[in-house]
Amino acid sequence: MDASALPTCPACQQSNQVQKVTSTYGMNTKEWYETVTTTDANGNTHSRQELREAHTKLGLKLKPPAHPPQPTHPGLWYGIGGLIAFILASTLCPIALIPLGFIIPLIGASSFVPDVSGIPAWVITTLVIGLPILCIAILGLAGVIWLGSKIKQRFDRDMKSYKDKKALYDRDDRPRWQRAKNRWEQLYYCMRDETIFIPAENKAIKADDMEKYLYDPLFRG
Ligand SMILES: [Zn+2]
Repeated sequence: MDASALPTCPACQQSNQVQKVTSTYGMNTKEWYETVTTTDANGNTHSRQELREAHTKLGLKLKPPAHPPQPTHPGLWYGIGGLIAFILASTLCPIALIPLGFIIPLIGASSFVPDVSGIPAWVITTLVIGLPILCIAILGLAGVIWLGSKIKQRFDRDMKSYKDKKALYDRDDRPRWQRAKNRWEQLYYCMRDETIFIPAENKAIKADDMEKYLYDPLFRG
């Protein structure tokens, strides 16, 4: 677009200081990549590129409306929780089984298990060791099932609240932001008055009130 095609500022009725906000913002914003080096628990260093942004005062004022934060899917938190539980269980269970390794030979080798009226000692030994283990296993299984059902209930509740939030987000927050963003792309800035305007609406708004105006077309500065 050549300069003569620029719209007239509603405040000063001239167009010679008018710029498209998208380009004013671009000229007042600097983006660059910075190498960030971190050291992990194993002492290895990792480098990654991070996008940095700097704005002039004007650039900051004319920043496009920020994307609204999305609700987090609860599956993410349950996944992280499950992973931690799995790591803990796979570390702690073998440790918990160590005492068993001492007890079993002790009972098996001991002679305190009497040979009761013809029943072979190995049957007694099996019962003495097997029954408690079976009981613990059944109790453990019941505990896991109970815990699982509690987590499932909780998950269903979280999922429902997430769906409600997501629906609200999809219905209200995102379209509202999308409209504001589209309006931002139509904005012009007049350097003389430090005002912004959308040609079709022909209203001069102070650059400080840009965000309000983007979300509310009826806003009057
Ligand atoms: Zn003007």
